[in-house]
Amino acid sequence: MEYVSLISGETFHINEFEKKTNKQPPYYQTGGKYALCPWCKSSVQIIGGLNNSTHSRTRKMYAAHTPNETTKLNFDNEAKFECVNYKGNDNNWQKIYTISKTEQKNQELVDFIENNIDQIAKDVGNILGFKFILDSGKRSKVFDKVYESFKKNGGLRVPNFTPEYIPRMIAIKADPVSCWGLIPYEKTLKRILESSKLKESMEGNQIKPTDTVKVICVLDDDEHPKHLKTRLIFEDNTPVLDIQNISAKVSQYD
Ligand SMILES: [Zn+2]
Repeated sequence: MEYVSLISGETFHINEFEKKTNKQPPYYQTGGKYALCPWCKSSVQIIGGLNNSTHSRTRKMYAAHTPNETTKLNFDNEAKFECVNYKGNDNNWQKIYTISKTEQKNQELVDFIENNIDQIAKDVGNILGFKFILDSGKRSKVFDKVYESFKKNGGLRVPNFTPEYIPRMIAIKADPVSCWGLIPYEKTLKRILESSKLKESMEGNQIKPTDTVKVICVLDDDEHPKHLKTRLIFEDNTPVLDIQNISAKVSQYD
């Protein structure tokens, strides 16, 4: 995994480890960097990278669950084995799509999204095939609609989260939204121009179809998902165009 949490619940990318911890214990111990897994809150160690006691062939850093108890950091073997970030059980990650809702919204998730909103918007746009961060650096209003819809559908009312999956969760939990005025990525544009129903709908670099066309992301299999499918549909749910399939699983997991 590439994100870790502190005991306070704050979650950040491992590249920010030193800045966030000031290398204080219990996070920095005898030259090793430790923190908590964002999902199961059991201890993790940061592996690889320069200036790190862990001997690794790769300079690329990642965080892995510790096999044993680490001083002063929570170690929960049972939670670890059930964790979506734990690779020991092949199907753990699929639970991310079937996790049951809680009464309360997850404040740590809210804070994480708010602190990383532009990167998350960009990633959701990549999944849906359209630019949600414009060349001017501004965020598309369509992303805000997608995010509002994710919230309305209970997306924040989850007991756990892991940052790598947030863009996929937002794309999956959102209702279809109108793609009018969006700027397609190159691959999406190619599909639009190949489509008999949509090839006339481009105006400059924006899609402006005469009929309402919505973009939607769905799972290929609700219980054992392998792919997220992005497609365009008409208001009455008639399919217009399949845009892309992306893996339901985030790679680079330990
Ligand atoms: Zn974990």
